[in-house]
Amino acid sequence: MSELEMVIDGRSWGTAGSFEVVNPATEGLAGVAPSASPEDLDAAMRAALAAFRSWSLDEPARRDALRAAADALVAAAPRIAPILTAESGHPLRRSLGEVHGASMWFRYYAELEVPVETVRLSEERVAEIRRRPLGVVAAITPWNFPLALASWKIAPALRAGNSIVLKPSPFTPLATLALGEVLAKVLPPGVLNVITGGDELGAQMTAHPVPRKVSFTGSVGGGKAVALSAAADLKRLTLELGGNDAAIVLDDADLESTADGIFAAAFQNSGQVCAAIKRVYVSSVRYDELVGALVERAEAAVFGDPLDDATQFGPLSTKPQYGRVLELLDDALGSGATAVSGGGAMEGPGYFVAPTILRDLSDGVRIVDEEQFGPVLPVIACRDVNDALERANGTMYGLGGSIWSSDLERAAEVAGRLDCGTAWVNAHLALSPMQPFGGFKWSGIGVENGPWGLASFTDIQVLNRPSSASDGSGSTGR
Ligand code: NAD
Repeated sequence: MSELEMVIDGRSWGTAGSFEVVNPATEGLAGVAPSASPEDLDAAMRAALAAFRSWSLDEPARRDALRAAADALVAAAPRIAPILTAESGHPLRRSLGEVHGASMWFRYYAELEVPVETVRLSEERVAEIRRRPLGVVAAITPWNFPLALASWKIAPALRAGNSIVLKPSPFTPLATLALGEVLAKVLPPGVLNVITGGDELGAQMTAHPVPRKVSFTGSVGGGKAVALSAAADLKRLTLELGGNDAAIVLDDADLESTADGIFAAAFQNSGQVCAAIKRVYVSSVRYDELVGALVERAEAAVFGDPLDDATQFGPLSTKPQYGRVLELLDDALGSGATAVSGGGAMEGPGYFVAPTILRDLSDGVRIVDEEQFGPVLPVIACRDVNDALERANGTMYGLGGSIWSSDLERAAEVAGRLDCGTAWVNAHLALSPMQPFGGFKWSGIGVENGPWGLASFTDIQVLNRPSSASDGSGSTGR
């Protein structure tokens, strides 16, 4: 059982209140997390503000600190991963992978070169385009990948020279507290503060006068509430929100490799991924064949105890999410869909839903139109590629999408017609610290990752000055 504390100003911070965290695989207790009061929140904001100025001035020190953070996370992975598994239900080796993935983000931002751009305005003057940090960042994360998604914020925000107050989801606060404890040993006090509490704590953070930026990952509803709150104070905003990604399978696709790729990207983390494939469109010509290939994979998938080495997929991470997936599944079955594999809850304790492939349904059914965020995949027959694109784009979501085909040029052309932040060809969910990630429409505002993600933690400052011999001619890019 974990006894973890918040980190404020570089030290463990006791609180008067606490709350219980449930293990979704057993429905037992995963641990107890501290509950931050408004006074604790003020203390975290004050600490971050006090740390900001000197931290923002020393870039080499920041790069060194990020390198040290990456090393510290790798060293702590065997301790943090079981905590993550207990609170989220992720298979243990996936949890280990997530800690190592988080360390990769720290290393990437430590090594990223961020040159100053200069624009020669005339013979006499140049403009230097500089990136200035914003100040304190309020970072708020969801429960599906607490450590990975925190590192997408912490690493670029710190590298750019900001300080942070981070709040994880109340469903999965424990591994983030452990991460805060580990990083407190390698970062100056106050640079990263980790506090825990319910949704109301998130709302208090976004309304707090200290942060100059809110970086939020979560649901569309949460993102809209955050946007309203941040607007009152003109805080900068990045929103990474929900998705309802479509995969479109063209008639010439190799169905064995396509089914492998689609299954992996739809069922990763038991479907609880923002950019998981959440609906598949394929023409009636190849419908039965694709459904059959997906069912084979669903029947072979090993769902079960996250601590067992053989387990590939764990439970839904929260009870409300478990209830929601079952509700959407019942609604689909009641609307005439057929569950060709799975079709309901698994026996025993834990929030397990059997891997389900749904056929004979279409747009207009909730599980197609809404984000299910679970191991249930609807496969929808369409007339042709234009019909598929119209359906794929006909929603307010726009996170990712993919085209599967043997004709790579045609696939790339069709992918370019998907209305979404990332369009893949013969892949889905392939992410990298080097590649920006963000959503169109209700799936978000702004991007994370790469130099573009770092830029979102800065304001541009133009330094307009007389030119000197070292400025050369013309303008230089990044
Ligand atoms: P959520 O919106 O319920 O909660 C996310 C975080 O916001 C939590 O820490 C929560 O306590 C906090 N919060 C809730 N209400 C708030 C408010 N009014 N003000 C400030 N903070 C508030 O989302 P969730 O259920 O934890 O996460 C699942 C959702 O996140 C899914 O829709 C998923 O697609 C999305 N998601 C998106 C991405 C992405 O990068 N686009 C990545 C992962 C998850």
